[in-house]
Amino acid sequence: MSFQDKSIQCADCGTNFTFTAGENKFLASKGLTNEPRRCPQCRKAKKQQRRGLCGSWTSYANRAMLSGEYQ
Ligand SMILES: [Zn+2]
Repeated sequence: MSFQDKSIQCADCGTNFTFTAGENKFLASKGLTNEPRRCPQCRKAKKQQRRGLCGSWTSYANRAMLSGEYQ
């Protein structure tokens, strides 16, 4: 099985991002064959939102960044 870099459009913010062969291989090695639907930034923000309002600096910064994208 070979892996190639792939350009994907983020389902959340519409940004084109590259799903690299390395990431593809890494996920496949974990049994995850689905391609990501969101760019790394949106994925990160989502993950941190789900973790709840822990009030950490990074989750605050990511939320601020995300809300900025939607305005
Ligand atoms: Zn995005």
